[in-house]
Formats: sequence, C-alpha cells, structure tokens
Amino acid sequence: MPKTEQFEVLVLGSGTGGKLMAWHMARSGQHTAVVERRWIGGACPNIACMPSKNEISSARVAHLVRQSVQYGTVTDSVDVDMVAVLRRKHEMVQRQVWNHLQIYKASGAELIMGSGRFVAPKQLEVTLNDGGTRVLAGEKVFLNVGTHAALPSVPGLDAARPLTHVEALELDRLPSHLIVIGGGYSGLEFAQAYRRFGSKVTVIEAGPQLMGREDIDVSQEMRRILTDEGIQVLVETEMLRIRGHSGERVSLDVRTGSEEQTIEGSDILVAVGRVPNTAGIGLTEVGVELDNRGYIRVNDRLETTASEVWAMGECAGSPQFTHISEDDFRIIRDNLAGKHRSTRDRLVPYCMFTDPPLARVGLSEGEAERRGIMARVARLPMESVLGAQATDRRQGFMKALIGDTNDRILGFTMIGAEAGEVMAAVHTAMLAGLSYSTLSEAAFAHPTMAEGLSPLFSNVPPRGVRHATQRVVA
Ligand SMILES: Cc1cc2nc3c(=O)[nH]c(=O)nc-3n(C[C@H](O)[C@H](O)[C@H](O)COP(=O)(O)OP(=O)(O)OC[C@H]3O[C@@H](n4cnc5c(N)ncnc54)[C@H](O)[C@@H]3O)c2cc1C
Repeated sequence: MPKTEQFEVLVLGSGTGGKLMAWHMARSGQHTAVVERRWIGGACPNIACMPSKNEISSARVAHLVRQSVQYGTVTDSVDVDMVAVLRRKHEMVQRQVWNHLQIYKASGAELIMGSGRFVAPKQLEVTLNDGGTRVLAGEKVFLNVGTHAALPSVPGLDAARPLTHVEALELDRLPSHLIVIGGGYSGLEFAQAYRRFGSKVTVIEAGPQLMGREDIDVSQEMRRILTDEGIQVLVETEMLRIRGHSGERVSLDVRTGSEEQTIEGSDILVAVGRVPNTAGIGLTEVGVELDNRGYIRVNDRLETTASEVWAMGECAGSPQFTHISEDDFRIIRDNLAGKHRSTRDRLVPYCMFTDPPLARVGLSEGEAERRGIMARVARLPMESVLGAQATDRRQGFMKALIGDTNDRILGFTMIGAEAGEVMAAVHTAMLAGLSYSTLSEAAFAHPTMAEGLSPLFSNVPPRGVRHATQRVVA
C-alpha cells in the first residue's frame, strides 16, 4: 500500500460543483486534490450540455437552410456532413478541456486522473489511469461523482448495445431511423436534432405524455411542434422486446393500449433517466449513507452523514442541471464561511433546448395544484408577440402563475423562440420579489420576445379568478 498523502481538501469527481470547489479552495491557499476518472471538467463540457447544444446548433442550421426559401433565400438541396458536425463538436470540447486545464494550473489544485474509492473515512485509494495507485486523505472531502444513463430492463436491450447520450454525441454517420426511448428533455433534444440532420425518428414514452413534469398544455404543444417536423411520437407505450443491434438493424416490439406493433429502426438511443455513480466506491462503509435510489443522503446544507464530507450536484440528488451543481458549490462555500444558505425553496430555472425551446422557472399549474397553492393563470400565444410575427417564429406560448391573494409571480413557463432568455427576466423579477404588475407596466424593447411579458402579465385575472379570458394583442 503506498504512503498516504495528506491534503486539506479532497474532491472526488470533477463535475461542476467539484471543480469550482477545488479551484476556490486552492485559490484560498488550501492544499487541494481532485480525483477524476475520465472527463476533465465533468459531464457538462464533455458529454452533456455543451456538446449536445453544439450538435443541436448544427442541426438548427440545417433546418434553417431547408426553411430558407420562406425568408427569401434560395439554396440548392441540403446535405448534412456528420463528420463535419462531429469535428465541430470535438473542437469545442477540446477548447473546453484546455480551458479547464489552464484554470487547474492557475488555481494550484492538483488534478489526479484515476478512479477513486474510499478505503477509510476521508481516505481514497486512487487507481491511476496511467498505472499505479495513490492513497489520499483529506481534512474536508467533497463528493461530485455525478450520474450515468439508466438502461430500462427490456428483454434484448442490453444485447442491442443501445446508444446513450455519450455514444450519440460521437456519431459520425446519420442513423436512417433513430428510435429514441424516453420522451424527457434529453430524448427530445436528440430526437429533434437527428430529425433535422435527416434521420427518421420515433420517440417512445412509457408515461401518458412527453415531458412528464410539465403541464399537459405544454406537453401537447411540444408534441405538436415535434410531430409537425415529422417525428413519430408514441406515448403510454410499453417496450416488450428488442432484437438486433443498434447501428445495424433493430426491431422493437411495443404495446400501446391493446395494440402491439413492431418498429424497425437502425439505431436505438436510451434517455430514460439517470443512475448515481455511487455504487462500489466504499461510501456506505465510511459512513456516507445513500438513499434507496443510490443518491447520497444530504441535509439542506449538502452535508452527508459523515463528518466533514459534503456532496453536490446530481449524486446528491440535486436537480440535474449544471447551474444547480454550481449553486450547490456556492451553498457549501457560504456555509463554510459562516453564512447560512440552504437548498430549501431555491428557484430552479431550466431549459429544454429544442427549437423552439421550453423554459420554466417556479411552479407549473400541476405543481401548484398538488401543493394546494391557489394561483391565477395568465397565458399568451407566441403568435401575438410582435417580435415573433416579425421573425416568423410563432410557435408556442407563455404562461405565468400569480398568487391568488397577493401579486407575487409563482411560476413562468414558455415554449417559444428565445424562451431561456425571456425566462431570465422573469426569474430575476421573482428573485427580486417584484409584483407581476411591474412587468405588465414595463417598457420592454420592441420587437423582442421579452416584449410579450407585458401583455402576458396584463392578462392576469383579478384575484379570486383562476383563468382569464385570453386577451390577444395584435
Ligand atoms: C445529454 C445531456 C444534456 C444535458 N444538458 C444540460 C443542459 O443543457 N443544461 C443543464 O443545466 N444541464 C444539462 N445536463 C445535466 C448536466 O450535464 C449535469 O447536471 C451537470 O453536468 C452537473 O453534473 P455534476 O456536477 O453532478 O457531475 P458530473 O459533471 O457528472 O461530474 C461527475 C464526475 O465524476 C467523475 N467520477 C465519477 N465517479 C468517479 C470515481 N469513482 N472516481 C473518479 N471520478 C469519478 C465522472 O467521470 C465525472 O466527470 C445534461 C445532461 C445530459 C446527459
């Protein structure tokens, strides 16, 4: 056994929260090591947010070129070169990794490439990628080991060698027919991108609607947008068995209601949820308890059940977004500095990067109902927003929830062009505790999509009335 090396700060997993903690601690003069088995900078820049948005943007260009005649530009036929798409993505990822390495160097945190496993409380054995082993002990330990794609248990699925997001983002060819298992955010982003690259695409969702967390009107609108682009969507559909190999030929037997059918495709992409990377790394043995789904048990300050051990990001069961992993870092940092901060009741904004995107912050109608919160609802179709009319991006709508007995904004959802940017304005208003009338009376720049916030919030019904008759502005 090699000699134990002592650090003040030990970080396992270089995801978003982990790397930020390492850089912060090292810059504050703490002797810091980060153990990472593969992805420098974690999932986001390598295999998740950034590369998926990179490829989605390539797909959007293909789509725009196909639509260009509508805008008065005439082109020849559109060919997509997946090798070039992949090259563009690789170049971006390489830049990201290089940037990370520079920051590691400047911060003074030591990045150790290898797989870590606890062998004693706050002590890791690291199997180095280059061979050999190191044993590291930390006074404070931060866990940020992330998650990996879940594979549903369907006969034949393992043997079919399905794609997950990792392999899908490495394709240098166009699947002739991509079957996407899972109608959540990740599955739908890939479904639309591959449809736009030129694949035939079928989405299979076990639940009653796409994007199960969203209100039914939101889900229906997105389904309409995707089916208009030629994506086949099957909901309430059970997978019975799979034959063949993804990348060659696959047959998927499914049942929808009482009807069974076989879907023939070339590739299968699985996007049905995540599994925490917490198994087999000695966590419970050193007093770090897991919940029944394998996520690390933490309190609202992200402290684990082991003393001086914290967890952040997806492995801690936090909402699965990069900006939340970053927020987890801030919460731990601030608590360590004596400022009380909690994960409780934080606003969690998010976007699904379809085109148009979906953005939401705060409550949906369904969540308000489930929590017994009375809310007024205002809605505005995007086609009534002047910026949407000018640019011919009319799909979708905005929806806001307002308190019934006060004028607080409780939630905002938008499907529409620039939804993420528009949401940021509402998010800021919510953080500032502004009443909805501040937005209905604001002079937003014309003709932006955010200009729609003024008529949206003018549509808020009076107190005691849940839904207003929709007032559409021309
Ligand atoms: C396809 C896809 C698209 C996404 N798009 C978005 C998006 O647009 N916006 C958004 O906000 N979020 C998005 N997400 C989610 C986002 O990627 C994550 O929430 C984010 O990366 C934060 O992850 P994390 O900090 O929990 O850990 P991660 O970034 O997953 O990092 C964990 C790290 O720990 C390492 N590790 C694990 N076990 C060990 C071990 N034993 N030893 C050493 N190292 C180990 C892993 O290699 C990994 O690098 C997307 C996810 C996917 C899958």
